[in-house]
Amino acid sequence: MKVNEYFDRLVPNYLFADVARKTGEFAAAHPEKEIIRLGIGDVTLPLAPIVVAAMKKGCEDLLYQETFKGYPEYEGYDFVREAISGYYKSFGVTVLPDEIFVSDGAKSDCGNLPDIFAQDNTILVTDPVYPVYVDANLMAGRKIIYASSGKENHFLAMPDKSVKADIIYLCSPNNPTGAAYSAEQLKVWVDYALENDALILYDAAYEAFIKDDSPRSIFSVEGARECAIELCSLSKTAGFTGTRCGYTVIPKELVRDGHSLHAMWYRRQATKFNGVSWPVQCAAAAVFSDEGLRQIRHNLDYYRRNAQVISDALDELGIYYTGGKNSPYIWLECPNGMGSWEFFDYLLENAAVVGTPGEGFGENGKGYFRLTSFGSYEKTVEAVERIKALINQR
Ligand code: PLP
Repeated sequence: MKVNEYFDRLVPNYLFADVARKTGEFAAAHPEKEIIRLGIGDVTLPLAPIVVAAMKKGCEDLLYQETFKGYPEYEGYDFVREAISGYYKSFGVTVLPDEIFVSDGAKSDCGNLPDIFAQDNTILVTDPVYPVYVDANLMAGRKIIYASSGKENHFLAMPDKSVKADIIYLCSPNNPTGAAYSAEQLKVWVDYALENDALILYDAAYEAFIKDDSPRSIFSVEGARECAIELCSLSKTAGFTGTRCGYTVIPKELVRDGHSLHAMWYRRQATKFNGVSWPVQCAAAAVFSDEGLRQIRHNLDYYRRNAQVISDALDELGIYYTGGKNSPYIWLECPNGMGSWEFFDYLLENAAVVGTPGEGFGENGKGYFRLTSFGSYEKTVEAVERIKALINQR
């Protein structure tokens, strides 16, 4: 027996382990200090009441013969896909229910979609990057190339026409940079993909945070239905990080090498995935009801207010950053030319605030730092006060 040797290509990522270790050591050495964690990439507010009520009702259904459910459909129940289609319609995008695949989350779909693509495709990701895109393709033995994002393009990498890529992962609003593409910028990517017969895997996990006119979906861009698959998640939209539900949209007209990608993905899911549980799909449908959308807005607004608190402080300090506006992430340039770990230590030791060093997300993350708005309002305000006092005192 031989193991998958491509696993040797994975670069060990100790980022979160190192953050936890350093934070733990600091806590042990300074038990009197209250540590505030602004590195957290997980939601903290509870699910909306209507969502929990729907999940409870779904559980009740399983108790009775008449309403019991066994294996769900691979692609999700019709009423859930109709609810998601209606959600798209609410921001002016047409996605038909039968183009939607309900899943247990966007991470699985990001990692599994490459199953339907040949191994010799070249994968393009932006740098810095959500590491799943890279690792899932390294495991499959694919070549990865990087489109550089940085201060010069406000962390919104654009295509280089001289570079040939086959599959392009785009994430907007972006994790980790919080930057969101405009419609014009996405059109450039769509045109590049169409010219190169490439495919865009568009991760819209943070679309619910968009508050300006940035596109909520790549399918609002002309031509995208011929060159893009969109992945989305209820994790950040509705606090489903532990509940687990997401969805992927594959237009039926998306054909490559004479194959319908929709049909191939259906076949892949039917082979390796047995669907999302009935109570969770009931909960997911409740998110997209009028009342559900009203209730989840409450949580989204709470996180947005935190993001505003952080952005205002950085504006005041004159520190360069992206995100915060259409995103729960704020990506800042470490002050005074510090490295990202150097700034991590400095902030921890002098303000007892924890963030995430940017270099964990790629080469271009060096010298940058990610703060998130998923904490409590009071703690965010307190952390920001400490950061301001620290930086002003230098
Ligand atoms: N895509 C991006 C860009 C993310 O940041 C995350 C979670 O952090 C995911 C996908 C994962 O989403 P899910 O919880 O639906 O698996």
